[in-house]
Amino acid sequence: MTTTIDRYGEPINDDPPTAHDAERCSGWRGEDFDGRPIPCLLCRPHLAHTAKVYDGAGMIR
Ligand SMILES: [Zn+2]
Repeated sequence: MTTTIDRYGEPINDDPPTAHDAERCSGWRGEDFDGRPIPCLLCRPHLAHTAKVYDGAGMIR
């Protein structure tokens, strides 16, 4: 197996983009570090834009 390196010298994980299996895909790809579900953007392209959630920072309590 050859390792492809991008222009920054980082190895590229070149999984074929055709690996998506619509019948097996649940629409979610696990959770991120904060425990939020990661949507499969191939199944749920409307979730491609991260929602801007006001987290209350700067709020006067
Ligand atoms: Zn999917």
